[in-house]
Amino acid sequence: MSLLSIIVPCYNEEAVLPLFYEEIQKVMQQMKDEHSHLTFELLFIDDGSKDKTLQILREMSLHDEKVRFISFSRNFGKEAGMYAGLENCKGDYVVVMDADLQHPPAFLPQMYNYVKDGEYDCATTRRISRKGESKIRSAFARTFYKLMNKISHTEIVDGAQDFRFMTRQMVDGILSMKEYNRFSKGIFSWVGFKVRYIEYENVERAAGTTAWSFWGLFRYSLEGIFAFSTAPLALASLLGIFSCLVAFIMCIVIIVKTLVFGEPVAGFPTIMCVIFLLGGLQLFCIGILGQYLSKTYLECKQRPIYLMRENEEIYRNRNKHNS
Ligand code: UDP
Ligand code: MG
Repeated sequence: MSLLSIIVPCYNEEAVLPLFYEEIQKVMQQMKDEHSHLTFELLFIDDGSKDKTLQILREMSLHDEKVRFISFSRNFGKEAGMYAGLENCKGDYVVVMDADLQHPPAFLPQMYNYVKDGEYDCATTRRISRKGESKIRSAFARTFYKLMNKISHTEIVDGAQDFRFMTRQMVDGILSMKEYNRFSKGIFSWVGFKVRYIEYENVERAAGTTAWSFWGLFRYSLEGIFAFSTAPLALASLLGIFSCLVAFIMCIVIIVKTLVFGEPVAGFPTIMCVIFLLGGLQLFCIGILGQYLSKTYLECKQRPIYLMRENEEIYRNRNKHNS
């Protein structure tokens, strides 16, 4: 017997959860028919949703043995949701996928085929188009991937998604990275293992709305840079060296000029310009230092990545006592 755990982070997904459940049931049945030794576990993570997501999950867990859920004490973000899922699932194989059907469950049988023979440790999808996304957003995304791959040793594949079918070994690898500032795209790549990419056209959300605003994505990309690259620190040093060089040359020029021509009182604008320029550079570099310092500060507090409020066990027990 092999257990396949399907992890689904959900934040305000009342509109799509029933659709998702229906789809995934079909796929699980199909896989079960083909491989009779497979058993399933559906682990939903309710990331502090404000709509009826939790109620739907509770209902589902009462009627279906396979359904488990973890409900957070507040919204901790998708990264925390995925971590909680990986930490609590029991499967020999593990899938992480979105609830909105943008990660089509129909890929699961194919993914399983790639991984089951041991040739690959992970199968994942890569969208080759960004259909249904605004032009500016796509342009920013492309620039981010280009920049990121220049300044980081960890390769981040453009279009790669959090839709991952993994072996237990890879999951354990990911869980061994206990960092608080989690950037999954980097973490998935950092752990290595043999990954099989399946290319496909982007699918639009089945229902509901995305939780990502443009600024949210922008901040997320900065997270990625600060989590997987120290290039901005090097940039700060380079800027420092450059302005030292300029200052050195200016010193020589000024000394020679003063010796040869004397020093009339003038040059106020020049001084102001130099002060502003250097002041700006210094603040910029201190800002970069501050970013890394703040990340380090949060890491060394060792706060938990998520807090659980309820799970299917607690709910089933309470339900039994109350009735
Ligand atoms: N999600 C989450 N916590 C959040 C935001 C999103 O668990 O704070 C979940 C969401 O329910 C969905 C997945 O992460 O299952 C992807 O979110 P979304 O579809 O909004 O992002 P996009 O597909 O636009 O990247
Ligand atoms: Mg989505």
